[in-house]
Amino acid sequence: MTHPLSVEPTGESHGHCDCCGNATSTVWGYVHDREKTVAAYFVQWTVGSAEHMPNFDFLIGTWGNDAVNDRVLSSWLFNPSNNSFMITDAKCRPAANSQLCSHALSREETLALPGLKAVASGCLDAVWLQDGRLAEVRAFANDA
Ligand SMILES: [Zn+2]
Repeated sequence: MTHPLSVEPTGESHGHCDCCGNATSTVWGYVHDREKTVAAYFVQWTVGSAEHMPNFDFLIGTWGNDAVNDRVLSSWLFNPSNNSFMITDAKCRPAANSQLCSHALSREETLALPGLKAVASGCLDAVWLQDGRLAEVRAFANDA
């Protein structure tokens, strides 16, 4: 069975964590629903450190029409200790300052906007399964 959403990896960058100096990786790309782009995504994690919960950020809205700037940022954290995702406040994420972002959603807003949580979790699932660069993040997952 193929996933209804497809992932197109585009760029990546590397830096250092402000708190501990460990290396960080950020990868990004697009999520497509057939020929329509539904979101851009960014995944950032601290290399070799599962305690720094990896960030998954999604810019969801209209892509491919410069006249429309309706894209909202929804941010999620992966908690490797129980293999769960938590919705977090997007305002402090780097993509919140991007011109591509019209509004960074709080946790409450992600939950309250009709359909938004379903779109974001569909994108999350597609990125988790399809972006091969996330092998290290998937390896943080706790088998126990
Ligand atoms: Zn750190």
